[in-house]
Amino acid sequence: MSQTLVERKYQAVIGIECHVELKTATKMFCGCANEFGGEPNTKVCPVCLGMPGALPVANGVAIEHVIAAGLAFGAQIPAFSKFDRKNYFYPDMPKDYQISQYDMPLTLGGEVKFWREDGTMSACRLVRIHLEEDTGKSTHAGSGDGRIAGSAYSLVDFNRAGVPLMECVSEPEIHSAEDAVAYLEALRRTLLQLGVSDVKMEEGSLRCDANVSIRPAGATDLGTKTEIKNMNSFRSVHRAIETEIARQIDIVESGGRIVQETRGWDEQKGDTHSMRSKELAHDYRYFPDPDLVPLEISPDTVERIRASLPELPWQRFERYTAKYGLEPKQATQLIDNAALADYFERVVTASNHPQQSKNFVLGELSRLANETQTPVAGSKVSPEHLAELIALVEAKTINSKIAKELLARMWDGAGSPKSLVEKEGLAQTSDPSAIEKFVDEVIAANEKVVADYKAGKTNVAGFLVGQVMKASRGKADPALVNELLQRKLSS
Ligand SMILES: [Zn+2]
Repeated sequence: MSQTLVERKYQAVIGIECHVELKTATKMFCGCANEFGGEPNTKVCPVCLGMPGALPVANGVAIEHVIAAGLAFGAQIPAFSKFDRKNYFYPDMPKDYQISQYDMPLTLGGEVKFWREDGTMSACRLVRIHLEEDTGKSTHAGSGDGRIAGSAYSLVDFNRAGVPLMECVSEPEIHSAEDAVAYLEALRRTLLQLGVSDVKMEEGSLRCDANVSIRPAGATDLGTKTEIKNMNSFRSVHRAIETEIARQIDIVESGGRIVQETRGWDEQKGDTHSMRSKELAHDYRYFPDPDLVPLEISPDTVERIRASLPELPWQRFERYTAKYGLEPKQATQLIDNAALADYFERVVTASNHPQQSKNFVLGELSRLANETQTPVAGSKVSPEHLAELIALVEAKTINSKIAKELLARMWDGAGSPKSLVEKEGLAQTSDPSAIEKFVDEVIAANEKVVADYKAGKTNVAGFLVGQVMKASRGKADPALVNELLQRKLSS
């Protein structure tokens, strides 16, 4: 059986768990700065170091961030929520437990709407989003580097311990590596749009694990799953899931059994390896944190946050593709560059021509931006002036060649294209008698080319059009030039 036929015999089932560090001024339960990096163990205090007698106070901004995320994904916000202690031996958690949420998370249900490269929209439901604190960071070092002679040791940095962390748990209803990445992209875009996190995978403010299993196509029961960790980019998420699906199919095809375990992704080797068996569920002995009062979320708070939600990326995607007629790739390109999308929106508002706005913003303007290493939104071309240029093109006052020249000058600070056209007499010549004069001149001056044309070499027409455009200093209406030239040559 071929590889694809074997793959078609099975359906992959994928669930994604994402940990997202929230953007707040201070940590989750103390006043320490919530910033990435810095000298180890400099952003710490008695609370996040777990000193006896130190009491946590919940960060209200972090709670509102989670509610905002929940509402953006259409989740329910229960009126009551609480924090629980998750007990475990954490070498990088000074309290030796993590404050998390067990049975009463801040949000329940909801779904992440995502779109694929071809523009089709799909969704994956969420189980819950809960709020917890991040752990510190340990660095494991080997022996022999001279610091501690002859022994292996670990270094721990508590700067990250206590940073507010949101965990988004999806239902296992994604069926391909492509959809897993599309889901993550949608989640990332939404959280970025809400301003609740930097969601930088490279700095660890977005981390994800994937639960992967396979089952015979058409089956409804879930197969034994493995949990994949250590994926540091969306590209590695894609590769890791593909690799794991193939590994599981191989095992089942050869009569083996999938073992429930945690597997680490090795980017270099392009393979996963067993980290630990998960045959037994850990007993975290959760219990309500006695130092923290339960959370009461009033309907007023929920409605206030709901009213403050911006247009969401998937809504913008639908507007750009359905209303403005943009290609999925172009819509995504704009949505993923917030400053450029805002600029585009202002051009559309001022010009009322979404297609032309898109053509200029993603075309010539982006080319100039790349060339000069200046973002479009920070350039000297204001959206209003670009709209003016679009109006001049749409009214056929100028042709596209002049428009391109004008845009290059506007990029250098030339200002209003309308006044440039007026001042320099750049308006397109659409007067047939004026163009006819240029056409006659060109025909008279190029007897041999005209003879060639009449002898059947019609491809020389382009040269003649070029000559007429040149004679008009680029201002002739190209369509009219073509029409007049064809008529004269065939007479
Ligand atoms: Zn602290």
